[in-house]
Amino acid sequence: MTQNGGPGGPIEHGFPHLATVRASITALFRRLSAEGIRAYAASVAPADAAFDAADDVHLGAQRVASAMVRALRLPDARMVVAFRPMEQAATVELTAGPEYFVEVSDRFRTHRRDLAAALSHEVTHVLLHRLGLRFPGTEENEILTDTAAVYLGAGWLLLDAYREDALTHQKFGYLTPEEFGYVLARRAALFGEDPSTWFTSPQAYEAYVRGRAQAERDHRRPPLAAAGPLARRRYAKARRSGPTPADGPAKGSAERSAEGPAYRFEHEDSGPGLRVSFPCPVCGQRLRLPVGGRLRARCGLCRTVLDCET
Ligand SMILES: [Zn+2]
Ligand SMILES: [Zn+2]
Repeated sequence: MTQNGGPGGPIEHGFPHLATVRASITALFRRLSAEGIRAYAASVAPADAAFDAADDVHLGAQRVASAMVRALRLPDARMVVAFRPMEQAATVELTAGPEYFVEVSDRFRTHRRDLAAALSHEVTHVLLHRLGLRFPGTEENEILTDTAAVYLGAGWLLLDAYREDALTHQKFGYLTPEEFGYVLARRAALFGEDPSTWFTSPQAYEAYVRGRAQAERDHRRPPLAAAGPLARRRYAKARRSGPTPADGPAKGSAERSAEGPAYRFEHEDSGPGLRVSFPCPVCGQRLRLPVGGRLRARCGLCRTVLDCET
């Protein structure tokens, strides 16, 4: 796990990794199933993550690691946490277990408030390792790890560790603060949770609000019935022009942007009828529906019922 920043260090903002973040959520649903995801309804509570000057350094670190193990539902895993001087924030050795050795930077002996954040990422590595879930590239795999940590309820601490003030200027992990906020908002929407009171960092809260706005836009993309009039008009126009070319919507069009893969029109398997394919706003799995009316569809992967106007 990396820690960026330090005085003057640049912190990336916006949504540059959104496609990989979305693919990560879809991969979690495929691997765990909708029910498996539902089992992660409880987030790590701020009190479980607390590690302060009053704690014994080793017992406190073990206690926080155990809280992460419980939150990530790894009942038989045991984390052995050791402090040592290192450039990275933390690393974990991915073995068969049940014991896992986590090394964390010596800095956390004194800068204790962010140890829980670093451990949430490392324990998520263990979970994904056990699930046999990984993405091919190192960066993609780290994005998957951060996304899983947040989506499954332990990683909101990674966002809260993003802080900029006169003394600190730091961020953990591979996602931007806004992307952490986006994943957290998607989790919050799924579980009806309100994480806004957990933040200790005002900048993290602001990034959460920006990420939440992006997550809400996912629910207003056509053919979802909540789409706005302008997007609906564009959708109707694209539908009139028939099947979407194989290389996708025209460059520069609103349907092809940083917003990621949106709807496509295709011929039905039999007959000349048209159907639309689009990503589920909850799990990202693509749905395929006949065009031409208001209908409710249930996503086959996450089971969400979606109001659509195709
Ligand atoms: Zn990592
Ligand atoms: Zn879905």
